[in-house]
Amino acid sequence: MDRARRSERGAAHRGARRRFLLGAAGAAGGVVAALAAAIAPNRRWYSVSGRNIFLVRPPYRADESRAAWTGSRVAEYRRLGRTDFRISDISLGSGSSTGGRQTPEVAREAIERGINYFDTAPDYSESGSEKRLGEAMKDVRERMFVATKFCMPNGHLPPGSSVQQYVAAVEGSLRRLQTDRVELVHIHSCDSVERLLDENAHEAFDRLKQAGKVRFLGVSTHTPNLEAVANAAIDSGRFDVMMLAYHFGAWPGLADVIARAAAHDIGIVAMKTLRGAHHRGLLWSREERDSFTQASFKWVLSNPNVSGLVISLWERAQLDEFLYASGRRPEPSDHAVLRRYEEEVAARECRPHCGACLASCPEGLPIHDVLRHRMYFEGYGAEKEAMRLYARLDVRADVCTGCSAPCASACPYGVPIPERTREAHALLGWT
Ligand code: SF4
Ligand code: SF4
Repeated sequence: MDRARRSERGAAHRGARRRFLLGAAGAAGGVVAALAAAIAPNRRWYSVSGRNIFLVRPPYRADESRAAWTGSRVAEYRRLGRTDFRISDISLGSGSSTGGRQTPEVAREAIERGINYFDTAPDYSESGSEKRLGEAMKDVRERMFVATKFCMPNGHLPPGSSVQQYVAAVEGSLRRLQTDRVELVHIHSCDSVERLLDENAHEAFDRLKQAGKVRFLGVSTHTPNLEAVANAAIDSGRFDVMMLAYHFGAWPGLADVIARAAAHDIGIVAMKTLRGAHHRGLLWSREERDSFTQASFKWVLSNPNVSGLVISLWERAQLDEFLYASGRRPEPSDHAVLRRYEEEVAARECRPHCGACLASCPEGLPIHDVLRHRMYFEGYGAEKEAMRLYARLDVRADVCTGCSAPCASACPYGVPIPERTREAHALLGWT
Protein backbone atom coordinates (compact mmCIF):
# COMPACT_ATOMS: atom_id res chain seq x y z
CA MET A 1 0.00 0.00 0.00
CA ASP A 2 1.46 3.38 -0.93
CA ARG A 3 2.02 6.06 1.62
CA ALA A 4 -0.87 8.30 0.53
CA ARG A 5 -3.37 5.46 0.77
CA ARG A 6 -2.03 4.42 4.14
CA SER A 7 -2.39 7.96 5.36
CA GLU A 8 -5.91 8.24 4.01
CA ARG A 9 -6.94 4.97 5.58
CA GLY A 10 -5.31 5.91 8.89
CA ALA A 11 -7.21 9.20 8.96
CA ALA A 12 -10.48 7.40 8.30
CA HIS A 13 -9.97 5.01 11.15
CA ARG A 14 -8.80 7.64 13.55
CA GLY A 15 -11.99 9.50 12.75
CA ALA A 16 -14.05 6.39 13.42
CA ARG A 17 -12.32 5.90 16.74
CA ARG A 18 -12.85 9.52 17.76
CA ARG A 19 -16.54 9.33 16.95
CA PHE A 20 -16.87 6.16 18.98
CA LEU A 21 -15.16 7.59 22.00
CA LEU A 22 -17.23 10.73 21.93
CA GLY A 23 -20.28 8.59 22.14
CA ALA A 24 -21.48 9.52 18.67
CA ALA A 25 -21.90 5.88 17.85
CA GLY A 26 -24.36 5.57 20.72
CA ALA A 27 -26.35 2.43 20.88
CA ALA A 28 -27.83 2.63 17.42
CA GLY A 29 -27.32 -0.64 15.65
CA GLY A 30 -26.78 0.93 12.24
CA VAL A 31 -24.06 3.20 13.50
CA VAL A 32 -22.35 0.35 15.29
CA ALA A 33 -22.47 -1.68 12.10
CA ALA A 34 -20.90 1.19 10.20
CA LEU A 35 -18.19 1.47 12.83
CA ALA A 36 -17.51 -2.25 12.61
CA ALA A 37 -17.18 -1.91 8.87
CA ALA A 38 -14.70 0.88 9.36
CA ILE A 39 -12.65 -1.11 11.84
CA ALA A 40 -12.62 -4.39 9.99
CA PRO A 41 -10.02 -3.49 7.36
CA ASN A 42 -7.65 -2.09 9.96
CA ARG A 43 -6.50 -5.18 11.70
CA ARG A 44 -3.54 -3.63 13.35
CA TRP A 45 -5.65 -1.13 15.23
CA TYR A 46 -8.22 -3.77 16.05
CA SER A 47 -5.59 -6.14 17.37
CA VAL A 48 -4.36 -3.47 19.74
CA SER A 49 -7.60 -2.00 20.93
CA GLY A 50 -10.68 -3.64 19.53
CA ARG A 51 -10.95 -6.36 22.13
CA ASN A 52 -10.85 -3.71 24.82
CA ILE A 53 -13.24 -1.26 23.25
CA PHE A 54 -15.91 -3.90 23.02
CA LEU A 55 -15.47 -5.13 26.56
CA VAL A 56 -18.73 -4.57 28.36
CA ARG A 57 -17.52 -5.68 31.75
CA PRO A 58 -14.75 -4.49 34.03
CA PRO A 59 -11.49 -5.89 32.72
CA TYR A 60 -10.26 -6.82 36.14
CA ARG A 61 -13.34 -8.51 37.43
CA ALA A 62 -13.40 -12.31 37.55
CA ASP A 63 -14.90 -14.09 34.56
CA GLU A 64 -17.17 -16.01 36.86
CA SER A 65 -18.52 -14.79 40.18
CA ARG A 66 -18.57 -17.41 42.92
CA ALA A 67 -21.52 -17.88 45.20
CA ALA A 68 -19.18 -17.67 48.19
CA TRP A 69 -18.22 -14.11 47.27
CA THR A 70 -21.74 -12.73 47.25
CA GLY A 71 -22.25 -10.00 49.82
CA SER A 72 -18.62 -10.02 51.00
CA ARG A 73 -17.80 -7.43 53.61
CA VAL A 74 -14.67 -5.89 55.06
CA ALA A 75 -13.23 -8.40 57.51
CA GLU A 76 -10.26 -6.46 58.86
CA TYR A 77 -9.42 -2.91 59.87
CA ARG A 78 -5.87 -1.72 60.38
CA ARG A 79 -4.37 1.26 62.12
CA LEU A 80 -3.27 3.98 59.70
CA GLY A 81 -0.07 4.97 61.43
CA ARG A 82 -0.09 8.09 63.57
CA THR A 83 -3.55 9.12 62.35
CA ASP A 84 -4.72 6.40 64.74
CA PHE A 85 -7.70 5.79 62.48
CA ARG A 86 -8.53 2.17 61.71
CA ILE A 87 -9.20 1.79 58.01
CA SER A 88 -10.69 -1.03 55.99
CA ASP A 89 -7.85 -3.19 54.65
CA ILE A 90 -9.48 -3.04 51.22
CA SER A 91 -10.75 0.43 50.44
CA LEU A 92 -12.28 2.41 47.65
CA GLY A 93 -10.12 4.08 45.02
CA SER A 94 -11.63 6.20 42.30
CA GLY A 95 -8.77 6.91 39.94
CA SER A 96 -8.33 6.89 36.20
CA SER A 97 -9.01 3.20 35.84
CA THR A 98 -12.69 3.71 36.66
CA GLY A 99 -12.99 5.68 33.44
CA GLY A 100 -15.75 7.69 35.12
CA ARG A 101 -17.90 4.58 35.58
CA GLN A 102 -18.08 4.68 39.37
CA THR A 103 -21.51 5.74 40.63
CA PRO A 104 -22.65 7.12 44.00
CA GLU A 105 -24.70 3.93 44.39
CA VAL A 106 -21.72 1.60 44.23
CA ALA A 107 -19.72 3.88 46.52
CA ARG A 108 -22.64 3.85 48.94
CA GLU A 109 -22.76 0.09 48.85
CA ALA A 110 -19.02 0.04 49.58
CA ILE A 111 -19.73 1.98 52.77
CA GLU A 112 -22.51 -0.41 53.69
CA ARG A 113 -20.11 -3.33 53.21
CA GLY A 114 -17.70 -1.79 55.72
CA ILE A 115 -15.35 0.33 53.59
CA ASN A 116 -14.53 3.45 55.57
CA TYR A 117 -11.68 4.95 53.53
CA PHE A 118 -12.21 6.78 50.24
CA ASP A 119 -9.36 7.91 48.05
CA THR A 120 -10.15 10.61 45.53
CA ALA A 121 -8.64 13.61 43.75
CA PRO A 122 -9.92 16.67 41.91
CA ASP A 123 -8.53 15.40 38.61
CA TYR A 124 -10.08 11.94 38.79
CA SER A 125 -12.75 12.04 36.09
CA GLU A 126 -12.28 15.82 35.98
CA SER A 127 -13.83 16.31 39.44
CA GLY A 128 -16.54 13.66 38.85
CA SER A 129 -14.99 11.35 41.44
CA GLU A 130 -15.19 13.87 44.28
CA LYS A 131 -18.76 14.78 43.39
CA ARG A 132 -19.90 11.17 43.30
CA LEU A 133 -18.17 10.20 46.55
CA GLY A 134 -19.56 13.33 48.24
CA GLU A 135 -23.02 12.27 47.18
CA ALA A 136 -22.49 8.71 48.42
CA MET A 137 -21.37 9.63 51.93
CA LYS A 138 -23.33 12.78 52.68
CA ASP A 139 -25.35 11.35 55.57
CA VAL A 140 -22.65 8.99 56.88
CA ARG A 141 -19.73 11.38 56.72
CA GLU A 142 -18.71 10.76 60.34
CA ARG A 143 -17.82 7.14 59.58
CA MET A 144 -15.49 7.98 56.76
CA PHE A 145 -11.81 8.77 56.37
CA VAL A 146 -11.50 10.81 53.17
CA ALA A 147 -8.24 11.36 51.32
CA THR A 148 -7.96 13.83 48.49
CA LYS A 149 -5.05 15.61 46.77
CA PHE A 150 -3.58 19.07 46.30
CA CYS A 151 -4.70 19.32 42.70
CA MET A 152 -7.15 20.97 40.30
CA PRO A 153 -9.84 19.27 38.18
CA ASN A 154 -7.78 19.90 35.07
CA GLY A 155 -4.48 18.64 36.42
CA HIS A 156 -1.68 18.98 38.94
CA LEU A 157 -0.72 22.25 40.52
CA PRO A 158 2.57 23.22 38.89
CA PRO A 159 5.76 23.97 40.82
CA GLY A 160 5.70 27.54 42.03
CA SER A 161 1.97 27.54 42.80
CA SER A 162 1.05 30.03 45.51
CA VAL A 163 -0.17 29.24 49.00
CA GLN A 164 -3.53 30.63 47.99
CA GLN A 165 -3.74 28.28 45.00
CA TYR A 166 -3.05 25.28 47.21
CA VAL A 167 -5.65 26.46 49.74
CA ALA A 168 -8.19 27.13 46.99
CA ALA A 169 -7.61 23.64 45.56
CA VAL A 170 -8.59 22.01 48.84
CA GLU A 171 -11.55 24.34 49.31
CA GLY A 172 -12.76 23.27 45.87
CA SER A 173 -12.51 19.65 46.98
CA LEU A 174 -14.54 20.37 50.11
CA ARG A 175 -17.33 21.90 48.03
CA ARG A 176 -17.44 18.95 45.64
CA LEU A 177 -17.30 16.45 48.50
CA GLN A 178 -20.08 18.32 50.35
CA THR A 179 -18.07 18.39 53.54
CA ASP A 180 -16.34 20.91 55.78
CA ARG A 181 -13.08 18.96 56.13
CA VAL A 182 -11.10 16.06 54.77
CA GLU A 183 -9.00 13.80 56.92
CA LEU A 184 -6.06 13.65 54.54
CA VAL A 185 -4.62 15.67 51.70
CA HIS A 186 -1.79 14.24 49.61
CA ILE A 187 0.90 15.93 47.59
CA HIS A 188 -0.38 14.25 44.46
CA SER A 189 1.58 11.85 42.29
CA CYS A 190 4.78 13.40 43.57
CA ASP A 191 7.75 12.90 41.30
CA SER A 192 10.43 15.04 42.90
CA VAL A 193 11.76 15.95 46.31
CA GLU A 194 11.48 19.60 45.34
CA ARG A 195 7.71 19.27 44.84
CA LEU A 196 7.41 17.18 48.00
CA LEU A 197 8.95 19.91 50.10
CA ASP A 198 7.45 22.91 48.30
CA GLU A 199 7.20 25.52 51.05
CA ASN A 200 3.94 26.91 49.70
CA ALA A 201 2.23 23.53 49.82
CA HIS A 202 3.36 23.05 53.40
CA GLU A 203 2.31 26.54 54.42
CA ALA A 204 -1.10 25.91 52.82
CA PHE A 205 -1.43 22.63 54.70
CA ASP A 206 -0.62 24.30 58.02
CA ARG A 207 -3.21 27.01 57.41
CA LEU A 208 -5.84 24.49 56.35
CA LYS A 209 -5.11 22.33 59.37
CA GLN A 210 -5.37 25.31 61.69
CA ALA A 211 -8.75 26.14 60.14
CA GLY A 212 -9.93 22.56 60.73
CA LYS A 213 -10.28 21.86 57.02
CA VAL A 214 -7.71 19.04 56.88
CA ARG A 215 -6.19 16.83 59.57
CA PHE A 216 -3.27 14.96 58.06
CA LEU A 217 -0.67 15.40 55.32
CA GLY A 218 0.28 12.66 52.90
CA VAL A 219 2.16 12.01 49.71
CA SER A 220 1.16 9.74 46.87
CA THR A 221 3.92 8.59 44.58
CA HIS A 222 4.34 5.99 41.88
CA THR A 223 6.97 7.53 39.73
CA PRO A 224 10.54 6.56 38.94
CA ASN A 225 11.62 8.66 41.91
CA LEU A 226 9.39 6.82 44.34
CA GLU A 227 12.20 5.73 46.63
CA ALA A 228 13.86 9.14 46.81
CA VAL A 229 10.53 10.88 47.39
CA ALA A 230 9.40 8.37 50.01
CA ASN A 231 12.68 8.55 51.91
CA ALA A 232 12.64 12.34 51.87
CA ALA A 233 9.06 12.30 53.13
CA ILE A 234 10.07 10.06 56.03
CA ASP A 235 13.10 12.21 56.86
CA SER A 236 11.12 15.45 56.77
CA GLY A 237 8.91 14.37 59.67
CA ARG A 238 6.01 16.22 58.00
CA PHE A 239 4.03 13.34 56.58
CA ASP A 240 1.45 11.17 58.34
CA VAL A 241 0.55 8.87 55.43
CA MET A 242 2.19 7.66 52.22
CA MET A 243 0.29 6.12 49.34
CA LEU A 244 2.71 4.03 47.31
CA ALA A 245 2.53 1.89 44.20
CA TYR A 246 3.10 -1.56 45.72
CA HIS A 247 2.49 -4.96 44.20
CA PHE A 248 3.98 -8.44 44.09
CA GLY A 249 6.40 -7.39 41.34
CA ALA A 250 7.81 -4.51 43.38
CA TRP A 251 11.54 -4.35 43.85
CA PRO A 252 12.75 -5.64 47.26
CA GLY A 253 14.00 -2.20 48.32
CA LEU A 254 10.45 -0.94 48.42
CA ALA A 255 9.56 -3.20 51.33
CA ASP A 256 12.51 -1.65 53.20
CA VAL A 257 11.17 1.85 52.54
CA ILE A 258 7.77 0.76 53.82
CA ALA A 259 9.33 -0.76 56.95
CA ARG A 260 11.22 2.47 57.56
CA ALA A 261 8.03 4.51 57.19
CA ALA A 262 6.22 2.20 59.58
CA ALA A 263 9.02 2.63 62.12
CA HIS A 264 8.24 6.36 61.99
CA ASP A 265 4.54 5.56 62.48
CA ILE A 266 3.63 6.72 58.99
CA GLY A 267 0.54 4.97 57.64
CA ILE A 268 1.02 3.14 54.35
CA VAL A 269 -1.73 2.80 51.76
CA ALA A 270 -0.94 0.64 48.73
CA MET A 271 -2.16 1.41 45.23
CA LYS A 272 -1.55 -0.07 41.77
CA THR A 273 -1.67 -3.48 43.42
CA LEU A 274 -2.51 -5.50 40.30
CA ARG A 275 0.85 -5.04 38.56
CA GLY A 276 -0.89 -3.79 35.43
CA ALA A 277 -3.88 -6.16 35.52
CA HIS A 278 -2.92 -7.95 32.32
CA HIS A 279 -4.23 -11.31 33.53
CA ARG A 280 -7.38 -11.22 31.44
CA GLY A 281 -5.24 -11.31 28.32
CA LEU A 282 -3.24 -14.39 29.35
CA LEU A 283 -3.97 -17.84 28.03
CA TRP A 284 -4.76 -19.16 31.46
CA SER A 285 -7.55 -21.31 32.74
CA ARG A 286 -10.56 -19.40 33.98
CA GLU A 287 -9.74 -20.48 37.52
CA GLU A 288 -6.24 -19.05 37.32
CA ARG A 289 -7.48 -15.75 35.90
CA ASP A 290 -10.20 -15.50 38.50
CA SER A 291 -7.81 -16.05 41.39
CA PHE A 292 -5.36 -13.35 40.30
CA THR A 293 -6.95 -10.25 41.83
CA GLN A 294 -7.57 -11.76 45.23
CA ALA A 295 -4.07 -13.28 45.23
CA SER A 296 -2.59 -9.85 44.49
CA PHE A 297 -4.52 -8.22 47.33
CA LYS A 298 -3.59 -10.96 49.79
CA TRP A 299 0.05 -10.59 48.86
CA VAL A 300 0.02 -6.82 49.47
CA LEU A 301 -1.83 -7.19 52.76
CA SER A 302 0.55 -9.91 53.96
CA ASN A 303 2.98 -7.06 54.67
CA PRO A 304 2.04 -6.04 58.22
CA ASN A 305 3.41 -2.56 57.60
CA VAL A 306 0.70 -1.88 55.02
CA SER A 307 -2.44 -0.38 56.55
CA GLY A 308 -4.65 -1.00 53.56
CA LEU A 309 -4.97 -0.85 49.81
CA VAL A 310 -7.21 1.14 47.50
CA ILE A 311 -8.74 -0.32 44.41
CA SER A 312 -10.87 1.44 41.83
CA LEU A 313 -14.13 -0.36 41.23
CA TRP A 314 -17.48 0.47 39.75
CA GLU A 315 -19.64 -2.66 39.99
CA ARG A 316 -21.27 -4.57 42.81
CA ALA A 317 -19.68 -7.78 41.53
CA GLN A 318 -16.28 -6.22 42.06
CA LEU A 319 -17.20 -5.48 45.67
CA ASP A 320 -18.20 -9.13 46.09
CA GLU A 321 -14.96 -10.39 44.61
CA PHE A 322 -12.52 -7.91 46.09
CA LEU A 323 -13.87 -7.86 49.64
CA TYR A 324 -13.71 -11.64 49.76
CA ALA A 325 -9.93 -11.17 50.08
CA SER A 326 -10.30 -8.88 53.11
CA GLY A 327 -8.62 -10.31 56.19
CA ARG A 328 -7.22 -13.31 54.31
CA ARG A 329 -3.61 -14.39 53.92
CA PRO A 330 -2.02 -15.72 50.73
CA GLU A 331 -1.86 -19.44 50.24
CA PRO A 332 0.67 -21.43 48.16
CA SER A 333 -1.74 -21.38 45.21
CA ASP A 334 -1.83 -17.56 45.37
CA HIS A 335 1.95 -17.33 45.28
CA ALA A 336 1.98 -19.75 42.35
CA VAL A 337 -0.42 -17.68 40.26
CA LEU A 338 1.51 -14.48 40.98
CA ARG A 339 4.81 -16.13 40.04
CA ARG A 340 3.30 -17.35 36.81
CA TYR A 341 1.93 -13.92 35.99
CA GLU A 342 5.33 -12.38 36.55
CA GLU A 343 7.00 -14.94 34.28
CA GLU A 344 4.51 -14.28 31.50
CA VAL A 345 4.32 -10.50 31.48
CA ALA A 346 7.76 -9.40 32.70
CA ALA A 347 9.38 -9.23 29.28
CA ARG A 348 6.36 -7.76 27.53
CA GLU A 349 4.58 -5.32 29.80
CA CYS A 350 6.12 -2.27 31.41
CA ARG A 351 6.36 -2.50 35.17
CA PRO A 352 4.16 0.37 36.20
CA HIS A 353 6.15 3.06 37.92
CA CYS A 354 9.67 1.90 37.11
CA GLY A 355 11.56 4.32 34.88
CA ALA A 356 14.94 2.63 34.49
CA CYS A 357 14.86 3.35 30.75
CA LEU A 358 14.12 7.07 30.83
CA ALA A 359 17.68 8.31 30.42
CA SER A 360 18.01 6.40 27.17
CA CYS A 361 15.53 8.60 25.28
CA PRO A 362 17.04 11.73 23.76
CA GLU A 363 13.54 13.12 23.20
CA GLY A 364 12.67 12.98 26.88
CA LEU A 365 9.64 10.78 26.26
CA PRO A 366 8.07 9.73 29.60
CA ILE A 367 8.10 6.09 28.50
CA HIS A 368 6.68 4.86 31.80
CA ASP A 369 3.72 7.27 31.56
CA VAL A 370 3.04 6.44 27.92
CA LEU A 371 2.93 2.75 28.78
CA ARG A 372 0.89 3.41 31.92
CA HIS A 373 -1.78 5.20 29.90
CA ARG A 374 -1.74 2.33 27.45
CA MET A 375 -2.36 0.06 30.43
CA TYR A 376 -5.39 2.14 31.45
CA PHE A 377 -6.74 1.77 27.94
CA GLU A 378 -6.03 -1.91 27.39
CA GLY A 379 -5.85 -3.39 30.88
CA TYR A 380 -8.55 -1.33 32.57
CA GLY A 381 -10.82 -0.53 29.64
CA ALA A 382 -10.71 3.20 30.57
CA GLU A 383 -10.31 4.38 26.98
CA LYS A 384 -11.37 7.99 27.20
CA GLU A 385 -9.52 8.63 30.44
CA ALA A 386 -6.36 7.07 29.01
CA MET A 387 -6.54 9.23 25.90
CA ARG A 388 -7.21 12.35 27.95
CA LEU A 389 -4.19 11.69 30.16
CA TYR A 390 -2.02 10.87 27.18
CA ALA A 391 -3.02 14.12 25.48
CA ARG A 392 -1.74 16.01 28.53
CA LEU A 393 1.80 14.69 28.26
CA ASP A 394 4.35 17.30 27.21
CA VAL A 395 6.09 14.79 24.93
CA ARG A 396 4.12 12.03 23.20
CA ALA A 397 5.22 8.95 21.35
CA ASP A 398 4.88 10.46 17.91
CA VAL A 399 8.55 11.32 18.50
CA CYS A 400 9.28 7.59 18.15
CA THR A 401 8.42 7.66 14.46
CA GLY A 402 11.66 7.54 12.50
CA CYS A 403 13.76 7.44 15.66
CA SER A 404 16.77 5.10 15.63
CA ALA A 405 15.58 3.87 19.04
CA PRO A 406 18.54 4.02 21.36
CA CYS A 407 16.02 2.86 23.98
CA ALA A 408 15.67 -0.54 22.29
CA SER A 409 17.72 -2.44 24.83
CA ALA A 410 17.30 -0.06 27.76
CA CYS A 411 14.70 -2.03 29.65
CA PRO A 412 16.35 -4.44 32.09
CA TYR A 413 13.22 -6.58 31.96
CA GLY A 414 13.25 -6.89 28.18
CA VAL A 415 10.21 -4.76 27.29
CA PRO A 416 10.50 -3.90 23.56
CA ILE A 417 10.16 -0.17 24.16
CA PRO A 418 10.02 1.31 20.63
CA GLU A 419 7.42 -1.19 19.52
CA ARG A 420 5.30 -0.64 22.62
CA THR A 421 5.48 3.15 22.54
CA ARG A 422 4.69 3.35 18.80
CA GLU A 423 1.69 1.09 19.31
CA ALA A 424 0.68 3.20 22.28
CA HIS A 425 0.64 6.33 20.15
CA ALA A 426 -1.47 4.64 17.50
CA LEU A 427 -3.86 3.64 20.27
CA LEU A 428 -3.98 6.80 22.35
CA GLY A 429 -3.19 9.66 19.99
CA TRP A 430 -6.01 11.77 18.65
CA THR A 431 -4.39 12.87 15.44
S1 SF4 B 1 9.97 -0.08 29.81
FE1 SF4 B 1 11.16 -1.31 31.26
S2 SF4 B 1 12.72 0.09 32.11
FE2 SF4 B 1 11.14 1.35 31.11
S3 SF4 B 1 9.72 1.92 32.74
FE3 SF4 B 1 8.91 0.06 31.77
S4 SF4 B 1 9.74 -1.68 32.93
FE4 SF4 B 1 10.95 0.14 33.48
S1 SF4 C 1 11.99 5.19 20.01
FE1 SF4 C 1 10.83 6.67 21.21
S2 SF4 C 1 11.28 6.15 23.34
FE2 SF4 C 1 12.84 5.17 22.08
S3 SF4 C 1 14.53 6.63 22.06
FE3 SF4 C 1 13.30 7.03 20.25
S4 SF4 C 1 11.83 8.63 20.88
FE4 SF4 C 1 12.71 7.75 22.74
